[in-house]
Parts: sequence; C-alpha cells; structure tokens
Amino acid sequence: TRQEVSYFGAGPAPLPTPVVEAGARAFVNYNDSGLGLGEISHRSPAANKILDEAKANLTTLLDIPDNYEILFMQAGGSGEFSAVVHNLVAVWVERRRRRAEADISKTNAEKAQVDELVFQRLQKEVEEELKLDYLVTGSWSLKASQEAARLVGAKYVNVALDVKKANGGKFGTIPAEETWSLTPTKKEGGKGSAFVYFCDNETVDGVEFQSFPKSLEAQGQDAEDERLVVADMSSNFLSRKVDVRKYAVIFGGAQKNIGVTGITIAIVRKDLLPPQTATPPAALLHRLNIGGLPGPVVLDYATIAKNNSLYNTLPIFNLWIAGQVMADLVTAFGTQRVSGQEEIADHKAKLIYDVMDKYPQVYHVVPDKSVRSRMNVCFRVHGGDEVKEKEFLAGAEKRLLQGLKGHRSVGGMRASNYNAVPLENAQKLVKYLEDFATGQ
Ligand code: PMP
Repeated sequence: TRQEVSYFGAGPAPLPTPVVEAGARAFVNYNDSGLGLGEISHRSPAANKILDEAKANLTTLLDIPDNYEILFMQAGGSGEFSAVVHNLVAVWVERRRRRAEADISKTNAEKAQVDELVFQRLQKEVEEELKLDYLVTGSWSLKASQEAARLVGAKYVNVALDVKKANGGKFGTIPAEETWSLTPTKKEGGKGSAFVYFCDNETVDGVEFQSFPKSLEAQGQDAEDERLVVADMSSNFLSRKVDVRKYAVIFGGAQKNIGVTGITIAIVRKDLLPPQTATPPAALLHRLNIGGLPGPVVLDYATIAKNNSLYNTLPIFNLWIAGQVMADLVTAFGTQRVSGQEEIADHKAKLIYDVMDKYPQVYHVVPDKSVRSRMNVCFRVHGGDEVKEKEFLAGAEKRLLQGLKGHRSVGGMRASNYNAVPLENAQKLVKYLEDFATGQ
C-alpha cells in the first residue's frame, strides 16, 4: 500500500496522498458534475476557476509581485530550455532594434532607408555582441546550454562557468564567483549578455545553489544593461523562499515538487512581454537569420500570457493537481508562505546527511559539502563497491524503501527528498542507513 512504501524517486516523484486520492475522485466525477477533470473543456468556468486559484496560491506562496506573469505551459523543463532562448533572444533583438531605430531616425537618413540601416546595424550587433551566459553546474544546465547552442549556434553561447572543466571532469562543486567569466555589462565595460542562465538545483548531480549568486545581483547602468537572470527550479520549486524580483524568468516542470508531469510553470517579468518589449517583426528575424527565431508559438511567452495560459488545450487535470498541492501548502503554512516548507525540507535533508557524515567509512556524499542539495542526496556506498551497493539497494527494497538507485550517468545512490516525502519516510531511510552501516 502507499502507506507501506517509501519512495525516493527523482521525478516523477511522490505526491501527497490526500491529493492523489482527491485527484482519483475528481478524475471520475469533478465536484459532482458527472464529468471528470480530464473531460471538461479548458475554457469552461470550472477550468478557469482552477487556473485562477492555482495562480493566486502560487502568488501567495512565493510572494510574486504584480509585475510578474505566471504561465502554465507544456513541454516540460526541456521545453523551457528552448523557450528561454526563443523568448529572451527576441527580447534582446527588439531592445536593440528600438535603440537602432531611435538613433538612425535622428540622422538625415531617408525614411525608406531607416529599416535597411537598422537591419545592417543589427546584423553587425548580432555577429559581434549576442551572448548567452550559462553557468554549467550539472547535467541539466549542461543540457540547457547545449540546446541554446543547437538553436542559435555555439559561438553565441558563453559558458561562463564550466564546472566539469574546473573540477577535473566532474560536477559536484560551484567554484567561487570570481572565477566565473560572465559577459561584462556596459557598466563593466562590455556589452552585456542576452541573459544569464543557471539551474538552481541539479537533480542528477545533487548540487544546489545555497543562495542567489552575488555577481548576478549587479545591475547595469540602465534597465537594458541589467543582467536578465533565468533559473531552472524544476527540482527545488516551492522548497524554499525565493526573491522573485531577482529573476527575469523562473521555470520548473511540475513532476517533482508540484504535481504530475504535463504542466510546466514559468514566472516571467512583465516588462519582457508586450507592450513594453514586443516581439520583433518576424520578417526582421527571418532576415537576421538567428537560429531558432522566431520560435514555436506554443513556447512564446507573449502568446501564452496574452491568452491566460489557454492559447491551446491546457491539461486541466494536471493543473488541478498542481493547484491542489499549492493550496495545501498555503493552508499548512499560512503567512509563513513557503518558509514553512523550507524548514521541513532542511530538517529532512539534515537528518539524512548527518547519518552519512556519521559513517564516512560507509557513505560518501558525491558533491562537495558546500553545495549539497536538500532535494537530491547523491551518495556512494563503500566507495562505490558494486557488490556492496547492490546489497544496499536489496536491503532497502526489503524495507520498501524504493527509488534509491542513482542516475545512470552518476551511478551510486540518490535519495530524492522532495516536499511530499513525509518526515517519517525520511526517518525510515535514516534508520536503514544507520542499520546498514552498523551491520544490522
Ligand atoms: N531541469 C531539471 C533540473 C530537471 O531535473 C529536469 C528533469 N528531471 C529537467 C530540467 C527536464 O525536465 P523534463 O523532463 O520535464 O523536460
């Protein structure tokens, strides 16, 4: 039964049992309507209510300011790897197009010539100044940077931090910020980047940023010189307090801390959307020939925002599940908002890491102590001894502790400690770690 199994899978991940049970009922007969949530129109009043409530609860939990838009999208975290590029490079082009147009209109250029001169200037700027900064701290930010390179071309992607390179071929640390090579802003004597991207919690490698990077706080000399910060929070969403104001875009797939697969949340600052920053004319983008632009309409933040996330069919059942998880957090923690969940997440993670640190001859936590993830605990047993690790997993299975096998690229073990993992399941794992280490 659900009560007997402790599941530590990395995603899809456990959901709170009351949500799953209520979801099962709502899938059959939602609110006594005689129809299930998978059957109702995404444009029905019931669906709209679910959407509005999910937005309101997320706004409460993360204290999302008015100048941000919440978008419910599909295509997962990976879809956002592409969406970020499509959207923020378009923002970069549009800002520069406006500046070029303003400058050139001031000269004696004939009206008919302005467009051509704008195009020529942009073409040069793209060639010389378009840069996308990526901090590559694990497998997912690596994938995101690779997608950017695939879309726009590797020469435009600046890997400002390449941990594997800096750390002898392995992820597992976040070197000091002074060693990063972010594209300098105008204020710093450069031309700035279209955005700076990082993954807040690397699910595969068990590496989490412990706080917001200081060097990304630095503002430019004007709004357009600012560093637009993008964060992938797929695997630590709603597990700690976040100052949304520091980000241009935050995104996350639902299937770890929020719900079931099929919904992706993007929180986007409104000035990156029309009317403040309109999408550049498609004809201009075609002529500039930047790979991946214009992007697919279903990944276009402006389109999704304008249609209140209902541009195309949104999976309302999946949205309801996410909304329910959020509503329950609001009920549980009230004015504490997400800090209440943060305390619990920190506590569970500490219990697990503490017992590993207690038996260093048996357990080795893979990432460096300074970057340990509270969500994904990656560890080896007896130095990665194959027989011992098999024995560890078999013993865990016997106690119905499941989903502990690490990602195939890292090996070893991974205990994912998402929000819906109950404290008592974390305690069962701790007990097993203790017993295994002491030969019981
Ligand atoms: N980012 C992170 C941090 C992830 O953990 C994952 C999935 N495990 C992804 C992105 C990709 O998400 P999806 O499978 O929804 O595309």
